[in-house]
Amino acid sequence: MSAPSPLPSPHLIADRILAGDQSALDPATLERWLTGEGEIWELMAAADRLRRARFGNSVHLCSIVNAKRGGCPEDCGFCAQSRRYHTGVEPERFLSPDEIVSASARAREHGSTALGLVTATRGMEDGSRALGLMIEAVDAVHRAGHTEVHASLGFVSRDGLQKLQAAGLTELNHNLETGRSYFDQVVTTHTYDARIQTIRDAQSLGLRTCVGGIFGMGEAPWHRAELALELRALDVDEVPLNFLVDVEGTPMAGRDPLAPIEMLRIIACFRLALPRQNIFLAAGRHHLGQLLPLMFAAGASGMMIGDFLTTPNRSVDDDLRLLAELGLEGHHCGAPRPELDAPPARAAALRLPIVA
Ligand code: SF4
Repeated sequence: MSAPSPLPSPHLIADRILAGDQSALDPATLERWLTGEGEIWELMAAADRLRRARFGNSVHLCSIVNAKRGGCPEDCGFCAQSRRYHTGVEPERFLSPDEIVSASARAREHGSTALGLVTATRGMEDGSRALGLMIEAVDAVHRAGHTEVHASLGFVSRDGLQKLQAAGLTELNHNLETGRSYFDQVVTTHTYDARIQTIRDAQSLGLRTCVGGIFGMGEAPWHRAELALELRALDVDEVPLNFLVDVEGTPMAGRDPLAPIEMLRIIACFRLALPRQNIFLAAGRHHLGQLLPLMFAAGASGMMIGDFLTTPNRSVDDDLRLLAELGLEGHHCGAPRPELDAPPARAAALRLPIVA
Protein backbone atom coordinates (compact mmCIF):
# COMPACT_ATOMS: atom_id res chain seq x y z
CA MET A 1 0.00 0.00 0.00
CA SER A 2 1.40 3.40 -0.93
CA ALA A 3 1.89 6.07 1.76
CA PRO A 4 -0.74 8.86 1.75
CA SER A 5 0.38 11.98 -0.08
CA PRO A 6 1.61 14.83 2.15
CA LEU A 7 -1.10 17.24 3.22
CA PRO A 8 -0.83 20.76 1.83
CA SER A 9 -0.23 23.48 4.42
CA PRO A 10 -3.45 25.32 5.35
CA HIS A 11 -1.50 28.58 4.99
CA LEU A 12 -0.57 27.76 1.40
CA ILE A 13 -4.25 27.06 0.67
CA ALA A 14 -5.18 30.35 2.36
CA ASP A 15 -2.53 32.16 0.25
CA ARG A 16 -4.09 30.80 -2.93
CA ILE A 17 -7.58 31.77 -1.79
CA LEU A 18 -6.43 35.27 -0.92
CA ALA A 19 -4.86 35.48 -4.38
CA GLY A 20 -8.32 34.87 -5.87
CA ASP A 21 -8.76 31.11 -6.14
CA GLN A 22 -11.88 30.62 -4.00
CA SER A 23 -11.88 26.87 -4.62
CA ALA A 24 -8.22 26.30 -3.76
CA LEU A 25 -9.13 23.72 -1.14
CA ASP A 26 -9.48 20.38 -2.94
CA PRO A 27 -12.05 17.79 -1.79
CA ALA A 28 -9.46 15.18 -0.74
CA THR A 29 -7.60 17.61 1.54
CA LEU A 30 -10.86 18.90 3.01
CA GLU A 31 -11.92 15.36 3.87
CA ARG A 32 -8.56 14.51 5.45
CA TRP A 33 -8.64 17.67 7.57
CA LEU A 34 -12.18 16.87 8.68
CA THR A 35 -11.08 13.35 9.55
CA GLY A 36 -8.56 14.77 12.01
CA GLU A 37 -5.38 15.05 9.94
CA GLY A 38 -3.57 18.36 10.09
CA GLU A 39 -2.76 20.40 13.15
CA ILE A 40 -5.85 22.16 14.52
CA TRP A 41 -4.03 25.38 15.48
CA GLU A 42 -2.53 25.68 12.02
CA LEU A 43 -5.96 25.12 10.44
CA MET A 44 -7.50 27.74 12.70
CA ALA A 45 -4.73 30.26 12.02
CA ALA A 46 -5.26 29.91 8.26
CA ALA A 47 -9.06 30.07 8.63
CA ASP A 48 -8.72 33.18 10.79
CA ARG A 49 -6.66 34.90 8.08
CA LEU A 50 -9.54 34.31 5.67
CA ARG A 51 -12.15 35.53 8.15
CA ARG A 52 -10.24 38.73 8.80
CA ALA A 53 -9.53 39.34 5.12
CA ARG A 54 -13.22 39.06 4.28
CA PHE A 55 -14.94 40.42 7.38
CA GLY A 56 -12.32 42.32 9.41
CA ASN A 57 -13.59 42.76 12.95
CA SER A 58 -17.22 42.53 11.86
CA VAL A 59 -19.51 39.84 13.17
CA HIS A 60 -22.91 39.13 11.67
CA LEU A 61 -25.72 38.98 14.22
CA CYS A 62 -29.19 37.69 13.46
CA SER A 63 -32.18 36.37 15.35
CA ILE A 64 -35.11 34.11 14.64
CA VAL A 65 -38.70 33.91 15.76
CA ASN A 66 -40.79 30.76 15.76
CA ALA A 67 -43.74 32.08 13.76
CA LYS A 68 -45.51 28.70 13.73
CA ARG A 69 -44.38 26.28 16.38
CA GLY A 70 -44.76 22.48 16.39
CA GLY A 71 -46.98 20.04 14.52
CA CYS A 72 -44.73 19.59 11.48
CA PRO A 73 -45.55 16.50 9.37
CA GLU A 74 -41.91 15.89 8.35
CA ASP A 75 -39.65 13.37 10.13
CA CYS A 76 -36.30 15.18 10.55
CA GLY A 77 -34.68 13.02 13.22
CA PHE A 78 -33.19 15.89 15.22
CA CYS A 79 -36.27 18.08 15.42
CA ALA A 80 -38.41 18.81 18.46
CA GLN A 81 -41.18 20.19 16.25
CA SER A 82 -42.02 17.08 14.24
CA ARG A 83 -45.47 15.79 15.17
CA ARG A 84 -44.12 12.25 14.75
CA TYR A 85 -42.13 12.42 17.99
CA HIS A 86 -43.20 12.92 21.61
CA THR A 87 -41.04 15.88 22.53
CA GLY A 88 -43.49 17.93 24.57
CA VAL A 89 -43.71 20.63 21.89
CA GLU A 90 -47.40 21.25 21.26
CA PRO A 91 -48.59 22.68 17.93
CA GLU A 92 -49.48 26.35 18.14
CA ARG A 93 -51.19 28.86 15.84
CA PHE A 94 -49.30 31.24 13.59
CA LEU A 95 -48.10 34.31 15.43
CA SER A 96 -49.93 37.46 14.32
CA PRO A 97 -48.09 40.11 12.27
CA ASP A 98 -48.10 42.35 15.38
CA GLU A 99 -46.42 39.66 17.48
CA ILE A 100 -43.80 39.16 14.77
CA VAL A 101 -43.17 42.91 14.46
CA SER A 102 -42.60 43.01 18.24
CA ALA A 103 -40.04 40.22 17.81
CA SER A 104 -38.25 42.24 15.13
CA ALA A 105 -38.15 45.28 17.44
CA ARG A 106 -36.63 43.10 20.20
CA ALA A 107 -34.12 41.60 17.77
CA ARG A 108 -33.05 45.06 16.67
CA GLU A 109 -32.71 46.21 20.27
CA HIS A 110 -30.37 43.26 20.82
CA GLY A 111 -28.17 44.25 17.90
CA SER A 112 -29.51 41.89 15.25
CA THR A 113 -30.00 43.38 11.83
CA ALA A 114 -32.03 40.50 10.44
CA LEU A 115 -34.95 38.51 11.80
CA GLY A 116 -35.70 35.07 10.38
CA LEU A 117 -39.37 34.08 10.47
CA VAL A 118 -39.39 30.31 10.96
CA THR A 119 -42.36 27.99 10.58
CA ALA A 120 -42.51 24.30 11.48
CA THR A 121 -44.16 23.31 8.22
CA ARG A 122 -43.38 21.07 5.27
CA GLY A 123 -43.84 24.16 3.16
CA MET A 124 -46.44 26.56 1.83
CA GLU A 125 -48.54 25.82 -1.21
CA ASP A 126 -49.55 28.47 -3.69
CA GLY A 127 -52.76 30.16 -2.60
CA SER A 128 -52.69 28.57 0.88
CA ARG A 129 -53.75 30.39 4.04
CA ALA A 130 -50.28 29.74 5.49
CA LEU A 131 -48.58 31.51 2.59
CA GLY A 132 -51.04 34.40 2.86
CA LEU A 133 -50.25 34.78 6.56
CA MET A 134 -46.51 34.75 5.89
CA ILE A 135 -46.79 37.37 3.16
CA GLU A 136 -48.70 39.55 5.61
CA ALA A 137 -46.07 39.00 8.32
CA VAL A 138 -43.15 39.73 5.97
CA ASP A 139 -44.85 42.90 4.79
CA ALA A 140 -45.48 44.02 8.40
CA VAL A 141 -41.84 43.48 9.47
CA HIS A 142 -40.55 45.12 6.30
CA ARG A 143 -42.75 48.19 6.85
CA ALA A 144 -41.77 48.41 10.53
CA GLY A 145 -38.13 48.68 9.37
CA HIS A 146 -36.48 47.33 12.52
CA THR A 147 -34.67 44.52 10.74
CA GLU A 148 -34.30 42.87 7.39
CA VAL A 149 -36.83 40.07 6.88
CA HIS A 150 -35.54 36.57 6.28
CA ALA A 151 -37.59 33.36 6.42
CA SER A 152 -37.36 29.61 6.79
CA LEU A 153 -40.63 28.12 5.59
CA GLY A 154 -39.89 24.73 4.06
CA PHE A 155 -40.87 24.23 0.44
CA VAL A 156 -42.28 27.25 -1.34
CA SER A 157 -42.80 27.49 -5.10
CA ARG A 158 -40.93 30.06 -7.15
CA ASP A 159 -44.19 31.96 -7.51
CA GLY A 160 -44.71 31.93 -3.73
CA LEU A 161 -41.15 33.12 -3.18
CA GLN A 162 -41.71 35.95 -5.63
CA LYS A 163 -44.76 37.11 -3.66
CA LEU A 164 -42.77 36.97 -0.41
CA GLN A 165 -39.97 38.91 -2.07
CA ALA A 166 -42.43 41.56 -3.25
CA ALA A 167 -43.61 41.87 0.38
CA GLY A 168 -40.05 42.55 1.56
CA LEU A 169 -38.29 39.20 1.98
CA THR A 170 -34.57 39.52 1.24
CA GLU A 171 -33.19 36.14 2.19
CA LEU A 172 -34.39 32.54 2.39
CA ASN A 173 -33.03 29.96 4.82
CA HIS A 174 -33.31 26.35 3.68
CA ASN A 175 -30.75 24.10 5.32
CA LEU A 176 -29.39 20.97 3.65
CA GLU A 177 -28.77 19.54 7.16
CA THR A 178 -25.95 17.15 6.15
CA GLY A 179 -24.10 15.62 3.22
CA ARG A 180 -26.17 14.12 0.43
CA SER A 181 -25.18 10.53 1.19
CA TYR A 182 -26.23 10.79 4.85
CA PHE A 183 -29.47 12.71 4.32
CA ASP A 184 -31.70 9.63 4.31
CA GLN A 185 -30.45 8.78 7.79
CA VAL A 186 -31.82 12.11 8.95
CA VAL A 187 -34.98 12.72 6.89
CA THR A 188 -37.11 10.35 4.80
CA THR A 189 -40.19 12.47 4.04
CA HIS A 190 -38.53 14.65 1.42
CA THR A 191 -35.42 14.59 -0.74
CA TYR A 192 -32.14 16.44 -0.89
CA ASP A 193 -32.84 17.43 -4.47
CA ALA A 194 -36.17 18.98 -3.52
CA ARG A 195 -34.29 21.17 -1.04
CA ILE A 196 -31.74 22.15 -3.64
CA GLN A 197 -34.50 23.09 -6.08
CA THR A 198 -36.00 25.52 -3.55
CA ILE A 199 -32.58 27.10 -2.99
CA ARG A 200 -32.05 27.49 -6.74
CA ASP A 201 -35.53 29.00 -7.16
CA ALA A 202 -34.72 31.58 -4.50
CA GLN A 203 -31.38 32.39 -6.13
CA SER A 204 -33.00 32.74 -9.54
CA LEU A 205 -35.18 35.52 -8.09
CA GLY A 206 -32.21 37.35 -6.62
CA LEU A 207 -32.99 36.38 -3.03
CA ARG A 208 -29.97 35.80 -0.83
CA THR A 209 -29.73 32.27 0.50
CA CYS A 210 -28.82 30.99 3.94
CA VAL A 211 -28.05 27.27 3.85
CA GLY A 212 -26.23 25.18 6.41
CA GLY A 213 -26.39 22.02 8.39
CA ILE A 214 -26.21 20.20 11.69
CA PHE A 215 -23.22 18.28 13.02
CA GLY A 216 -23.09 15.53 15.60
CA MET A 217 -25.96 13.46 14.14
CA GLY A 218 -23.74 10.40 13.63
CA GLU A 219 -22.42 11.58 10.26
CA ALA A 220 -18.88 10.73 9.17
CA PRO A 221 -16.25 13.35 8.27
CA TRP A 222 -16.78 12.71 4.55
CA HIS A 223 -20.48 13.58 4.95
CA ARG A 224 -19.35 16.92 6.39
CA ALA A 225 -17.02 17.39 3.42
CA GLU A 226 -19.90 16.59 1.04
CA LEU A 227 -22.02 19.27 2.67
CA ALA A 228 -19.28 21.91 2.43
CA LEU A 229 -18.69 21.12 -1.24
CA GLU A 230 -22.42 21.16 -2.01
CA LEU A 231 -22.67 24.62 -0.42
CA ARG A 232 -19.67 25.78 -2.42
CA ALA A 233 -21.23 24.51 -5.65
CA LEU A 234 -24.51 26.27 -4.81
CA ASP A 235 -22.65 29.48 -3.94
CA VAL A 236 -25.00 30.30 -1.07
CA ASP A 237 -24.53 33.53 0.90
CA GLU A 238 -24.78 32.56 4.56
CA VAL A 239 -23.91 29.23 6.17
CA PRO A 240 -25.39 28.49 9.59
CA LEU A 241 -23.50 25.76 11.46
CA ASN A 242 -25.63 23.97 14.05
CA PHE A 243 -24.52 21.29 16.50
CA LEU A 244 -27.02 18.67 17.59
CA VAL A 245 -28.89 19.57 20.75
CA ASP A 246 -30.23 16.54 22.56
CA VAL A 247 -34.06 16.60 22.41
CA GLU A 248 -35.75 13.82 24.30
CA GLY A 249 -38.27 11.94 22.19
CA THR A 250 -36.47 12.38 18.86
CA PRO A 251 -34.67 9.49 17.13
CA MET A 252 -31.36 11.29 17.72
CA ALA A 253 -31.83 11.73 21.45
CA GLY A 254 -29.05 10.52 23.73
CA ARG A 255 -26.08 11.18 21.46
CA ASP A 256 -23.01 12.68 23.06
CA PRO A 257 -22.24 16.20 21.83
CA LEU A 258 -19.17 16.66 19.66
CA ALA A 259 -15.98 17.57 21.51
CA PRO A 260 -15.29 21.33 21.38
CA ILE A 261 -12.01 20.79 19.55
CA GLU A 262 -13.84 18.79 16.84
CA MET A 263 -16.37 21.61 16.53
CA LEU A 264 -13.52 24.09 16.00
CA ARG A 265 -12.05 21.82 13.33
CA ILE A 266 -15.39 21.77 11.48
CA ILE A 267 -15.66 25.57 11.64
CA ALA A 268 -12.09 26.04 10.36
CA CYS A 269 -12.58 23.54 7.52
CA PHE A 270 -15.83 25.19 6.45
CA ARG A 271 -14.11 28.61 6.42
CA LEU A 272 -11.31 27.24 4.23
CA ALA A 273 -13.84 25.60 1.92
CA LEU A 274 -16.19 28.60 1.87
CA PRO A 275 -14.04 31.73 2.10
CA ARG A 276 -16.68 34.12 0.71
CA GLN A 277 -19.61 33.03 2.84
CA ASN A 278 -20.79 34.41 6.12
CA ILE A 279 -20.38 31.35 8.37
CA PHE A 280 -22.29 31.73 11.61
CA LEU A 281 -22.95 29.55 14.60
CA ALA A 282 -26.49 28.81 15.66
CA ALA A 283 -28.01 26.01 17.75
CA GLY A 284 -25.68 23.96 19.90
CA ARG A 285 -22.82 26.44 20.00
CA HIS A 286 -22.93 26.16 23.81
CA HIS A 287 -21.28 22.73 23.34
CA LEU A 288 -18.06 24.70 22.75
CA GLY A 289 -18.05 25.42 26.48
CA GLN A 290 -14.99 27.40 27.53
CA LEU A 291 -13.72 27.36 23.94
CA LEU A 292 -16.70 29.40 22.71
CA PRO A 293 -14.72 32.61 22.00
CA LEU A 294 -12.39 30.58 19.78
CA MET A 295 -15.18 30.11 17.22
CA PHE A 296 -14.14 33.44 15.67
CA ALA A 297 -10.46 32.46 15.63
CA ALA A 298 -11.57 29.28 13.84
CA GLY A 299 -13.20 31.34 11.09
CA ALA A 300 -16.80 31.96 12.15
CA SER A 301 -17.99 35.40 11.07
CA GLY A 302 -21.29 35.53 12.90
CA MET A 303 -23.67 34.07 15.42
CA MET A 304 -27.35 33.81 16.02
CA ILE A 305 -28.36 35.60 19.19
CA GLY A 306 -31.50 35.51 21.31
CA ASP A 307 -33.91 32.61 21.62
CA PHE A 308 -33.59 29.58 19.39
CA LEU A 309 -36.71 27.70 18.26
CA THR A 310 -37.05 25.14 21.03
CA THR A 311 -33.60 24.89 22.59
CA PRO A 312 -31.76 27.22 24.96
CA ASN A 313 -29.23 29.87 23.98
CA ARG A 314 -26.89 32.05 26.02
CA SER A 315 -28.24 35.40 27.11
CA VAL A 316 -28.00 38.23 24.60
CA ASP A 317 -26.08 40.36 27.11
CA ASP A 318 -23.46 37.61 27.52
CA ASP A 319 -23.06 37.35 23.76
CA LEU A 320 -22.79 41.10 23.23
CA ARG A 321 -20.32 41.40 26.09
CA LEU A 322 -18.24 38.60 24.56
CA LEU A 323 -18.03 40.53 21.28
CA ALA A 324 -17.13 43.77 23.03
CA GLU A 325 -14.39 42.04 25.04
CA LEU A 326 -12.97 40.47 21.88
CA GLY A 327 -12.97 43.85 20.11
CA LEU A 328 -15.42 42.61 17.48
CA GLU A 329 -18.31 44.56 15.97
CA GLY A 330 -21.84 43.59 15.00
CA HIS A 331 -22.45 44.09 11.30
CA HIS A 332 -25.16 44.01 8.73
CA CYS A 333 -25.31 40.88 6.59
CA GLY A 334 -27.52 42.09 3.76
CA ALA A 335 -27.85 45.09 1.52
CA PRO A 336 -27.40 48.51 3.22
CA ARG A 337 -30.62 49.79 4.80
CA PRO A 338 -30.39 53.37 6.13
CA GLU A 339 -33.19 52.78 8.64
CA LEU A 340 -31.04 50.13 10.34
CA ASP A 341 -28.07 52.42 10.88
CA ALA A 342 -29.02 53.80 14.31
CA PRO A 343 -27.24 51.76 16.99
CA PRO A 344 -29.62 49.50 18.93
CA ALA A 345 -30.26 50.42 22.54
CA ARG A 346 -28.85 47.32 24.20
CA ALA A 347 -25.67 47.24 22.13
CA ALA A 348 -25.12 50.95 22.73
CA ALA A 349 -25.51 50.45 26.48
CA LEU A 350 -22.79 47.79 26.35
CA ARG A 351 -20.65 50.08 24.14
CA LEU A 352 -20.73 47.52 21.37
CA PRO A 353 -19.97 49.26 18.07
CA ILE A 354 -22.43 48.45 15.31
CA VAL A 355 -21.39 49.07 11.74
CA ALA A 356 -23.65 48.92 8.73
S1 SF4 B 1 -36.70 20.53 10.72
FE1 SF4 B 1 -38.36 21.70 9.79
S2 SF4 B 1 -39.22 20.31 8.24
FE2 SF4 B 1 -38.00 19.02 9.63
S3 SF4 B 1 -39.49 18.29 11.19
FE3 SF4 B 1 -38.53 20.16 12.02
S4 SF4 B 1 -39.91 21.81 11.43
FE4 SF4 B 1 -40.43 20.03 10.15
